[in-house]
Amino acid sequence: MKLPEWSKGVTLAVCAATVVACAANPVTGRRQLMLVSESSAISSSAQAYTQMMAPLEQEGRINRDKALRDRINLMTGKLVAQAIRYRPETKDWKWEVKIIDDPKTVNAFCMAGGKMAVYTGLIEQIKPTDDELAQVMGHEIAHALSSHTVEKMSIALATNIAVTAIAVTSDRPGVALTGAALAAALAIQLPNSRTAETEADRIGIELAARAGYNPYAAVTLWEKMGKASGAGESKFDWLSTHPAPARRQETLAELAPKMMPYYESREKRPVFPLKSN
Ligand SMILES: [Zn+2]
Repeated sequence: MKLPEWSKGVTLAVCAATVVACAANPVTGRRQLMLVSESSAISSSAQAYTQMMAPLEQEGRINRDKALRDRINLMTGKLVAQAIRYRPETKDWKWEVKIIDDPKTVNAFCMAGGKMAVYTGLIEQIKPTDDELAQVMGHEIAHALSSHTVEKMSIALATNIAVTAIAVTSDRPGVALTGAALAAALAIQLPNSRTAETEADRIGIELAARAGYNPYAAVTLWEKMGKASGAGESKFDWLSTHPAPARRQETLAELAPKMMPYYESREKRPVFPLKSN
């Protein structure tokens, strides 16, 4: 049977779309929806990060407390050094972390390409130990390393972006993000799948242990999060974007002893020099 001329174009388009749309996770090998390449997700994320931070800088809402900045820079610097061992090409990412003054928001994120932020609500309300905070940031970095942010950006682009665009821009009228930068900003606001959560839990706890942070803190962190979220009127954005996979705490408790050799290793813990903020 001879196919009509137009069908060739359609088939080609579908093939091209399939090639681009499905890519293996660089860390786990799982097939993921990838409508954008990781490199374009990285540049869009950097653009979104700059646009998100600019009004916060103007409003004086980027925290300048030296002790807190030193704490966060050292911790994330140790985690990033381990992330680079996982995926050596990420040494070229423009890793950066900022602390956002927002005591009501319990959140932290790491975008594609390593642009990170921690909200003061997470520090003040959860009161995490260094070991626990390292689990949060290790988990966030794990999402970025595993291209979960690229996957979510693809979902943002594939679904009705216009509706969500209104939601985002009406919340912050000063921020007018468009196109790919908007999708990058949305990507950190969309919930991760439970599969992605399980991947980030496993990779995050290992990154943290290799960076010198106690793996059992992953268990206590989630306990604290659960308890604190029941009280007060704060926005627990972190819990809403990180849905609990089945048996999260039990799985982490099973992983913890396996991570102890990394934690107890006497190997020197390298620190990646983060861009000063
Ligand atoms: Zn997560």
